[in-house]
Amino acid sequence: RRTRVVSVLTRIDLRERELTARELLAVVPRADINVGDALAVVEPIIEDVRVRGEAALRELGERFDGVAPAHLRVPEEEIARALEGLDPAVRDALEEAIDRVGRFHRATVPPPVDVELAPGAIVSQRWVPVGRVGLYVPGGLAVYPSSVVMNVVTAQAAGVPSIAVTSPPQRAFGGLPHPTILAACALLGVTEVYAVGGAQAVAMLAHGVDDLCDPVDVITGPGNVYVAAAKRAVNGLVGIDSEAGPTEIAVIADSTATPRFVAADLLSQAEHDPMAGSVLITDSVDLADAVERELGALVDATTHLARTKEALTGRQSAIILTSGIDQSVAVADAYGAEHLEIHTADARDVAARIRNAGAVFVGEHSPVPLGDYLAGSNHVLPTGGTARFASGLGVTAFLKAVSYIDYSADALAQVGEKVVALANAEDLPAHGEAIRARLER
Ligand code: NAD
Repeated sequence: RRTRVVSVLTRIDLRERELTARELLAVVPRADINVGDALAVVEPIIEDVRVRGEAALRELGERFDGVAPAHLRVPEEEIARALEGLDPAVRDALEEAIDRVGRFHRATVPPPVDVELAPGAIVSQRWVPVGRVGLYVPGGLAVYPSSVVMNVVTAQAAGVPSIAVTSPPQRAFGGLPHPTILAACALLGVTEVYAVGGAQAVAMLAHGVDDLCDPVDVITGPGNVYVAAAKRAVNGLVGIDSEAGPTEIAVIADSTATPRFVAADLLSQAEHDPMAGSVLITDSVDLADAVERELGALVDATTHLARTKEALTGRQSAIILTSGIDQSVAVADAYGAEHLEIHTADARDVAARIRNAGAVFVGEHSPVPLGDYLAGSNHVLPTGGTARFASGLGVTAFLKAVSYIDYSADALAQVGEKVVALANAEDLPAHGEAIRARLER
């Protein structure tokens, strides 16, 4: 049952209903975004870049970003100049983010594994970084120097030797990416930066453009539906991270939550994008009413009023009333939020029960904006319910596991006849002969 109440958010009342996990999937709110539909838009763009290279990139910049960049590759002096002009407070904050995100991500590099399965029978695994990556930094409605940190620090922690960053050209800055994005690149020692956005950027990175940009092995980074569709289109030619589209926040709250905090956090993600989703999951009608009152007061004072209102009133945002914490957890798992906050009496216990979320923010002093910038975790996270099977950006997006098989003659002899038996069972006798040749010696 959906009813619209006093303020902006739709209410979905599940209190009287015992829904299965599958039924819950159908009732949780979702943005009307179809990456599959956007494929039809981006495929000709990708083809155009592949065939016409730089000329296409200039024209597409003009068409979609309103400016044909003077330099598709940003001159290194411009990157250095952006750092000189950076506000010291922002520099200090970026350095804090780089430190925290770096320390956490370096600690997550998986260790090598060596197992001696029998005497002389050694199987190992080593995580090897890819050679070259392309990192997308959004710059349409808002600009995201924080995404520079999240992408670059993670690739560097993984040990990637060659890093290219790309971000849409900005009309207000003569067709260069936003200066704070350039300054963040400078702080991280990245000198290869392109003023290219959207699907055309993904095409440039995947296919390469003669005399401009070498093709990469992996493309990561968040973006709008066109960026997500373009990444899907080149997946297989290169590796990609998860589809990190328009942002979402879900909050599980009970009667102990602070309405002001919950409202502020719901609002904070709505200001990203008219397609952003803000969802409150609560078993307390009083809390829901109080959050709505706070929201009503906050919305009208917000800077990005139009897109914030559109996000909150869209079908992707709602208050879901539940019968208790068990149903709240079940709803959160069905929704699979990019960001899930827990504002309940026993926040850690509830957090431990969550299966599907990009990142879980535990307790009222761990709000999503902390994670957006400098908690230490990554902010490039799976959206649209893909947290059911996908992970946020991490070092493993840039690493490949290589296996090493190292058997001695004795170790091979120990299992040789078993290999022959399996080879014969598959009617692949040459496999068996390769083993026998050694057993006979
Ligand atoms: P963007 O850089 O992703 O997209 C801008 C580009 O989109 C333009 O350069 C243009 O080339 C392309 N484009 C725009 N309209 C088009 C059209 N009609 N056809 C083809 N191409 C078109 O910037 P944005 O639009 O501000 O989107 C950024 C998104 O990233 C937001 O939705 C934000 O919520 C999301 N985000 C997500 C995460 C995450 O981890 N999930 C993190 C940060 C940002």
